Amino acid sequence: MRIGILGGGQLGRMLATAAQDLELEPLVLEPKPACPASRIAQTLCADYTDDAGLRALGRCDVVTYEFENVPPEALRRLAGRVRVDPTPEALLVMGDRLREKQLFMGLGIPTARFHAVDGAAAVASAAAAIGGPAILKSRRFGYDGKGQAALSGADEAARAWHQVGSVPSILEERVDFDREVSLIAVRGRDGEIRFWAPTENRHLDGILRVSRAPADGLDPAAVARARERVAGLLEHLDYVGVLAVEFFVRGDEWLANEAACRVHNSGHWTLGGAVTSQFENHVRAVAGLPLGETRPVEPSAMVNLIGELPATPALLSVPGARLHLYGKPPAPGRKLGHVTVTAPTREEVDARVDELLARVPGPRQARGSAA
Ligand code: AMP
Repeated sequence: MRIGILGGGQLGRMLATAAQDLELEPLVLEPKPACPASRIAQTLCADYTDDAGLRALGRCDVVTYEFENVPPEALRRLAGRVRVDPTPEALLVMGDRLREKQLFMGLGIPTARFHAVDGAAAVASAAAAIGGPAILKSRRFGYDGKGQAALSGADEAARAWHQVGSVPSILEERVDFDREVSLIAVRGRDGEIRFWAPTENRHLDGILRVSRAPADGLDPAAVARARERVAGLLEHLDYVGVLAVEFFVRGDEWLANEAACRVHNSGHWTLGGAVTSQFENHVRAVAGLPLGETRPVEPSAMVNLIGELPATPALLSVPGARLHLYGKPPAPGRKLGHVTVTAPTREEVDARVDELLARVPGPRQARGSAA
């Protein structure tokens, strides 16, 4: 069985590895030369809309993708030739912050207050309506805090509009959240849904730095409610594969920030931290295979390696640490790899996260369980 993968970054690479472990043959399409996936899997280096590239993917048994910004044209041309999972509809909605938030609203999933804006004047009136700190986010192509601008009031509208690139955007209230939690789920072709343990995330400059799972101290009733909502989203889209939803938790409220129709950085701890990783279950789902168990093996954490890499021995000397490097050249803000760590208790995991962060270059604000 051949699995086509649109995108050859680290997510595509980890999906390809999971496919290979099951003797399913991955074929990656990625425009950037020497991408992370190309080191381990057959990779066509061509544009996503390249004729030969799309023909080759069309000969696979199923095609999946590792990111939301696949050009719709590529999906249109694959349609009818090959099954694409998750459904292209998910990609069209989740690649656009406005459509995504509208879908959340339609399904009764609470979000931060937001307004669609298409110019500096609209930003100013939306900021006045919100009446407090807000964040302007471009509807498309934003990730890791890119395409975003914070503003404290309407007088900063023009600057913020310029900062996001003067493109259609949403303005949303800045949420004074207690914690950030993601729910990661997988849905099989037969409609079965499984969730991994809730994951607590700490960001630095808009980029995920540390994830911990299972997140402790969450109200079980609130988790169950949020899971029901995510299940409703999966069913609404007739979704097959892994989906991640990031929430702001404020008291009893869980506000959906965004959904990713793919494997997600906050699920990397499942590599070694859960019976079946998000990558393996995504591959199982899109290949029509039975889903694997998602229960955690031990308390786990994941630390992203961003911008520059510490020396490998310094990371590997931390007990329980497993290193995953992506083979990308260093650049400011770029995710170059991650470390996962498991231990018998949450306290031991937290101590190991502190040890890892002490070895990682850059700011330390994400350090410590209570940071
Ligand atoms: P995003 O690209 O929307 O996932 O944003 C990246 C990170 O920026 C989030 O994980 C939060 O830490 C922060 N952030 C984004 N939107 C908001 C918001 N409306 N209120 C507070 N923090 C936010």
